[in-house]
Amino acid sequence: MGRDRVAELTLRAVEKRFGAVQAVKAVDLDVADGEFVVLVGPSGCGKSTLLRMIAGLEDISDGEILLDGRNLNAVAPRDRDMAMVFQDYALYPHMTVAENLGFALKMRDMAASEIEAKVNEVAAMLELDALLHRKPRALSGGQRQRVALGRALIRDPKVFLFDEPLSNLDAKLRVGMRMEIRKLQAALRTTSIYVTHDQIEAMTMADRIVVLKLGEVQQIGTPIEIYQRPVNSFVGTFIGSPPMSLSKADVRYEGEAAFLGFGRGQEIRLPSDRAAVLRSAAIAQIEVGLRAEHIALADGGGEDEATFLSDVILVEEHGADSIAVVRLGDHEVMARVKPGGVHTGDKGRRFEMDVAALHLFHPEKGGRLG
Ligand code: ATP
Repeated sequence: MGRDRVAELTLRAVEKRFGAVQAVKAVDLDVADGEFVVLVGPSGCGKSTLLRMIAGLEDISDGEILLDGRNLNAVAPRDRDMAMVFQDYALYPHMTVAENLGFALKMRDMAASEIEAKVNEVAAMLELDALLHRKPRALSGGQRQRVALGRALIRDPKVFLFDEPLSNLDAKLRVGMRMEIRKLQAALRTTSIYVTHDQIEAMTMADRIVVLKLGEVQQIGTPIEIYQRPVNSFVGTFIGSPPMSLSKADVRYEGEAAFLGFGRGQEIRLPSDRAAVLRSAAIAQIEVGLRAEHIALADGGGEDEATFLSDVILVEEHGADSIAVVRLGDHEVMARVKPGGVHTGDKGRRFEMDVAALHLFHPEKGGRLG
């Protein structure tokens, strides 16, 4: 198995309407050969519908889907050379693991000896060797998902489609399986589209992420691009854990400078380039996005225009670091600190904001400024 074929997937202005519900709105996407693209968004954003349209399980209302330049709109699912892995595994309960794995090849009239060789090859890749004679009901959830993955692999398709394949597994298995899927895909270099509502899966697995909301693409980019430069406050808060804190602030201009007022007299001075962006947008109020790593403990440091004093409302221990909920004016924000650095109930600790790293969003429209 492996790539000797090119598989580039293109979506042009793809739409889906269910009666009055517009589930997918004008999606454009170019997936490169061998790329792993993750579609992510909250429930109802249209990600499953989009995947099902790529698979051919759902008609498209408008637009086109192309594989290597060939229009797939009228091509039946079985003729698309794609294999889908489902959340509920979709195994045949009356067949053994070996029969489940080999079923698609049997349908292609492949010789029994050849099927056996392929089944053994895939079983070895997925460490299913010892389970080949069991029925699905005698397998754990993780093992069933491995068989479902094996059924897709054995077909050696041009494209893998994954529909929330890890949702039914417990947290520890999920982490293990997401690494395995990624390792297999990196070895096979098969073009892959993966749907999840879990932003951590999107961040950890994707070459590129497509963030969807209410059927519309919000942003397409690498995990780092999306994490560092979210195009709006929705993407900013959806991607990243702990989530970005959003706080409304009043802007006060003074000469070249601009200060963000968070309430209770708490002001933070913006660097001049950020101040210039706000001035040109003539903005008096702003939504400020802060990631926990951009607020640090600054005990012992001097008072300056990027520091603030706060009691510690809550500390969550994460082992390697701690997340402290602290007060910034009228708002609660999260700070990432060293373990043991702060404690719930601490009074008057000093924190420092990395003002160059904060995100500025339009207060009503949510779009990124600067
Ligand atoms: P989830 O994570 O909950 O599965 P999703 O992002 O995959 O959500 P879709 O299942 O694609 O979202 O649904 C997108 C929108 O289309 C939703 O508003 C949904 O109610 C609607 N929808 C999906 N399938 C149908 C259908 N067969 N008939 C009518 N509306 C539908």
